[in-house]
Amino acid sequence: MSVTRRIPQQGFPGNITFSESIGFLARPGKGDELDAVFFVTAHEAGHQWWGNMLMPGKGLGGNILSEGMANFSAWMLTRECRGDEAAQHVLREWENTYANARSADSERPLVRTSGTRPGDTSVTYDKGGWVFVMLMDHMGRDAMLAGLQDFIVQYRDGPDFPLLQDFVRVMRTHATDLAAFDAFTTQWFERVVLPEFKVRDGVVTGPRGEPPMWTTTARIENAGSGQVTVDVAVEGEKVGDDPADRVLTSVTLGSDGDPSAHATIEVHTPFAPVRTVVDPDTRCLQLRRKLAEWKP
Ligand SMILES: [Zn+2]
Repeated sequence: MSVTRRIPQQGFPGNITFSESIGFLARPGKGDELDAVFFVTAHEAGHQWWGNMLMPGKGLGGNILSEGMANFSAWMLTRECRGDEAAQHVLREWENTYANARSADSERPLVRTSGTRPGDTSVTYDKGGWVFVMLMDHMGRDAMLAGLQDFIVQYRDGPDFPLLQDFVRVMRTHATDLAAFDAFTTQWFERVVLPEFKVRDGVVTGPRGEPPMWTTTARIENAGSGQVTVDVAVEGEKVGDDPADRVLTSVTLGSDGDPSAHATIEVHTPFAPVRTVVDPDTRCLQLRRKLAEWKP
C-alpha cells in the first residue's frame, strides 16, 4: 500500500527571545498602558502561523504577511483576553507610531512595500496590522477567519510562497459583497490613503419638548484621502465609571477636494450633548484622531 499523504509543514514550539530593547525589561501594563510583555509574547507566538507555517515570498509586501499578521493575531488575543478597550488602545498606539514614522512623500502601497524606505517598518507592522483589523471589520469575523485558514491551508505545503496579492485573492473567495471587498482592498492594499476627520460648524439646540430632546448638527469632513464609512457619536456627560450616553450615526466620505468629502449630521439625543466624536470605537485608521471631535 502506497502512502501518498504529504507531511504538512508545522509550526513547532520554539523559544521566544526577549531582547532588552523590547519586552525583556518591560513591566506589565497598568490601566491604559500597552502591556508590552503580553503583546510581544502574543506577537511572537503569532509567528508560529505567520512566518513559520505560512512562509511568505521574498517579494514586495511579503513581510507584511509575517509581521502585520503576527500583529493582527496579537491584537485578536488582546481583545479576547483584555477586552475591547485594550484592543482599541493597541490600535491607537499603532496609529500614533505610523503617523509619526511614515514618510508621506515616499510611502508606497502595502503590496509594494520593500522594507527599505523610511517609515517602512511602521508600514509593515502598524499599518499592516491595522489594515488586517479593518479587513475583518469589513468582511465579518467568520468570513475573515475562514479566509485566513483557507490561505494557510493553500500555501503551507508550497511549492509557491505567497505575497499580499495572493492573500487578497484567497480572501476574496470568502467575501460576500465583492464590489465592496474590491473597493476596500484596492484603496488599503494597492494605494496609499489616510483619512483625517474634522467636525465643523457644530451647533446644539434644545432642550425642547417633553421628554426634553437636544439636537446636534455639524459638518463632518475628510481632510485626508480615501473613501470611508465612519461612525460619528454624540455623547453626553460621563458620570463615574459608567460609559457616557451616546447616539451613533454614520457618514460616508470621499477624499479631500471631492464633493463627497463632507456630510452633514443631525443627531437627536435625550441628553445634553457634550462631545461629538468621529470614529468613537477606533475602527478607521486616520491621521490626527485627537482633532476629530468637537465640544460645544
Ligand atoms: Zn514579528
